Amino acid sequence: MCVDDLTGRISSALSGIDWPAAPPPDAAQALALQFQLGLSEWYDGASLAALQFRQLEVLLRHAHATVPYYRERWHGLYDPSASLDAARFARLPLLTRSALQQQFGALTSSAPPTAHGAPSETRSSGSTGTPVRVLKTPVSQLVWQAVMLREHLWHRRDFGAKLAVIRRVGEPGERAGWGEYIGGIIPAGRAAALPISVEIGRQLDWLAAQQPDYLLTYPTNAAGLARRSIERGVRLAGLRQVMTIGEIVTPELRALCRDAWDAPVKDAYSAQETGYLALQCPDRDAYHVQSETVLVEVLDRRGNPCAPGETGLVVVTPLHAFAMPLVRYVVGDYARVGALCPCGRGLPVLERIMGRTRNTLVLANGERYWPYFGTHRFVDLAPILQHQFVQTGYDVIEARLVTARPLTGAEEDDFVQHVRSCLPAPFEIRIRLVPGIPRDPGSKYEDFVSELAGAGGAG
Ligand SMILES: [Zn+2]
Repeated sequence: MCVDDLTGRISSALSGIDWPAAPPPDAAQALALQFQLGLSEWYDGASLAALQFRQLEVLLRHAHATVPYYRERWHGLYDPSASLDAARFARLPLLTRSALQQQFGALTSSAPPTAHGAPSETRSSGSTGTPVRVLKTPVSQLVWQAVMLREHLWHRRDFGAKLAVIRRVGEPGERAGWGEYIGGIIPAGRAAALPISVEIGRQLDWLAAQQPDYLLTYPTNAAGLARRSIERGVRLAGLRQVMTIGEIVTPELRALCRDAWDAPVKDAYSAQETGYLALQCPDRDAYHVQSETVLVEVLDRRGNPCAPGETGLVVVTPLHAFAMPLVRYVVGDYARVGALCPCGRGLPVLERIMGRTRNTLVLANGERYWPYFGTHRFVDLAPILQHQFVQTGYDVIEARLVTARPLTGAEEDDFVQHVRSCLPAPFEIRIRLVPGIPRDPGSKYEDFVSELAGAGGAG
């Protein structure tokens, strides 16, 4: 299904009017956005960049006028009366994750547009194990949903089919529809959800009972399920696609899902702070940057843009984030830049997202878990800036923490109790305060490493 295929399937809000449909206001807005995205994805690079910079100019003026952090940092580098071009933009400093952690107040706009709705806070453990908080308006959600719908259309998903979701958040159970946004536009099938904390063998039992058409989960979890499926000879005959989010997809994972279920992996690259960055191309494994909603740069060690074939640091500017503008934000992943896509879309190409994969927690009985440490709660427990967990024994996990100051005894106790409550078996948690957890561009940073996992993870 592509955007044209929606015609004839859209729910109408007017009785007696079945075709062409007269959708309700929210759906009409969603479809208006999708109509534009359906056109702009075919624009060439120069046309897309020109439109991006129009929006970027508005965002930067707003950031300069209402965000103390930028007003101070951009002194002498930014002139709101001058027109913006790539060279001027490239002079602006990068925004690091630690600056975002420590400068929450200074990065908050004093005057977010009232028409964008009330800002609210989002917390994320991020992809480098560093908790961050950002403010977003409902516009960010609107943008997120527009890209989500585009992803469904690109991969020609059947909205009448059954979707199974295994992830950290969300209510377990089964319900009608694929969420309010999709359901408001087109009648959708059923969706069932299970928390990621369930042991992998039991996840597979659940999937076998559900027999979904689509599975949405994290790549390493998909890998665990595929391996277990092969091992136990469990078939998911109806599975059409494995939809992945949140981690790096490797060619090994794609092969594994083919072997286990004869299903392709369709990945989306996003970060909680910034929204979607890129979607997998409908025709191949590379990714298209979502240029209508974010400006993505991939920079080498000197801060210059990488050429096709080169790998560099992903830096992103969400174009519609006015409550807390993130200008040239360093997400923490590395990506390899691709050449123009043979599919014909002009959206820039990321050939691979490199990043890193988490490993699995191994119990003495051989069971493997996808560990979840409830990192979004850390900011409530203690001034933890960064964390890394290392399983050093079948019942021991070392928590390496970077903190703003030494922890009190009560904070340590609360932290240990919280971490224990997230684990599937009793563990001794040993806290070790460290000055920093270094990240080497050439190697992977993992916020959980099991020294017992052998090959570890799912890569
Ligand atoms: Zn393409």
